[in-house]
Amino acid sequence: MTSSFDFGHARNINSIENDIKEMETLFPIDKYGERDFEEDMVQENGCYLNFCIVCGHDFVGNKHRMICKLCVEKEVEE
Ligand SMILES: [Zn+2]
Repeated sequence: MTSSFDFGHARNINSIENDIKEMETLFPIDKYGERDFEEDMVQENGCYLNFCIVCGHDFVGNKHRMICKLCVEKEVEE
């Protein structure tokens, strides 16, 4: 007589939970990028997607900004 219990489903649920954890690591939702101006987002026009004229990457910040945070910090250093 063979057992009717199938533990395959339990394994599947575990693997899905691991997938979700992996996704959260790859795509953190509540974390801003190094180019984003986190401090601008509380402003009225502070949550715009801009393109940096220096490095060409997109970043979030005040709509009047033209350079991302990473490049601004680089310019300050030089
Ligand atoms: Zn840049």
